[in-house]
Amino acid sequence: MAKLVYMDNSATTFTKPEVLEEMLPYFTQKFGNPSSMYRMSDLTRKAIATAREQVAKAINADPKEIFFTAGGSEGDNWALKGIAYANRSKGNHIITTEIEHHAILHAGKFLEKEGFEVTYLPVDDEGFVSVDALKAAITDKTILVSVMFANNEIGTIMPIKEIAKVCKEKGVYFHTDAVQAVGHVPVDVQDLGVDMLSMAGHKFYGPKGVGAMYIRKGVKIENLIHGGAQEKGKRASTENTPGIVGLGKAIELATSELEEEIARLTKLRDKLTKGLMEKIPHAQLNGPKDGSKRNPNNVNMSFIGVEGETLLLDLDDAGICASTGSACASGSLDPSHVLLAIGCKHEVAHGSLRLTLGAGNTEEDVDYALETIPAIIKRRREMSPLWFDFLKQRGEK
Ligand SMILES: *Cc1c(COP(=O)(O)O)cnc(C)c1O
Repeated sequence: MAKLVYMDNSATTFTKPEVLEEMLPYFTQKFGNPSSMYRMSDLTRKAIATAREQVAKAINADPKEIFFTAGGSEGDNWALKGIAYANRSKGNHIITTEIEHHAILHAGKFLEKEGFEVTYLPVDDEGFVSVDALKAAITDKTILVSVMFANNEIGTIMPIKEIAKVCKEKGVYFHTDAVQAVGHVPVDVQDLGVDMLSMAGHKFYGPKGVGAMYIRKGVKIENLIHGGAQEKGKRASTENTPGIVGLGKAIELATSELEEEIARLTKLRDKLTKGLMEKIPHAQLNGPKDGSKRNPNNVNMSFIGVEGETLLLDLDDAGICASTGSACASGSLDPSHVLLAIGCKHEVAHGSLRLTLGAGNTEEDVDYALETIPAIIKRRREMSPLWFDFLKQRGEK
């Protein structure tokens, strides 16, 4: 097979073989509906209970506070809509940020049509929301604050503990979309003080289409999926037993290897960032400069004079899978809302490249990227009028 370097781990990850192995019997022999009375279903009930314990342990929660979902988007929708509908008598105001995942932003837009008011707080040039601005935005009508843990495009790790403290003081629920954080950085719900947290299996080497929600005891939340009595009556639908088992195993693996993997990926990330900055003239790093406030797997850069889609096709030819904040790649006309929110001009956002490292990446992959990417950018820039204009303006041509 031709060379393949997968550097798009924030889009999704492969399922680890150990995870798949745990899942397989639940498709074939151990297929009983967990709600059935016979002994065969004891096996699936037990497996789900084990997975719930694995998730709870990984984030320092009580297993009773863990609810399985069908992924990150469901958790995000559940948090916003569930809190909105259950707490309407208290108020109709929700606060979030401009750089959330669309699962939050579009759920917010939907709730606005339903009569709720949503504040989308701006962020600074590295993607951080101001805790003071957030505090000031809370009114007596505010029922929920939702701020993501780690941004999926630029890797910004938000001040979650400080935000949780403010929300607690003000008596407002706090949800965090931790889809990019769980399995990547330490997450302890007791220490952080969050009320709700969403995660997705396929972002930490588990299967796709399964996720989990932490909902602290006592939180008043409406169901998103109505039906049977599964998940203590909070989330209907026959349990995705293989998926749940896989998520449990994946989170256990990720947590047990967390410290080493953070150290390893941070080293690779920093080598990649430094190398690209040195080899490519006028490269711009998007997101936090302080590596400790950035997801260990994330590199996001802009190269003026290069079109993101073209760059991705060239990289694909070279066997590198990556992503861009440019417009067409995201299936919309506008470039990334995250890059625009941190103040990137359109042409800078269009020339952006996101490389997200993961368990499959080695130092060899980073070396290959460092050999390949600068040459591709040089070639594309030589054909770009925008690049020549840029050089002329700077008096470099
Ligand atoms: C991937 C992602 C989601 C959506 O998760 P799905 O499992 O694809 O529904 C939500 N939030 C963030 C930050 C993500 O990266």
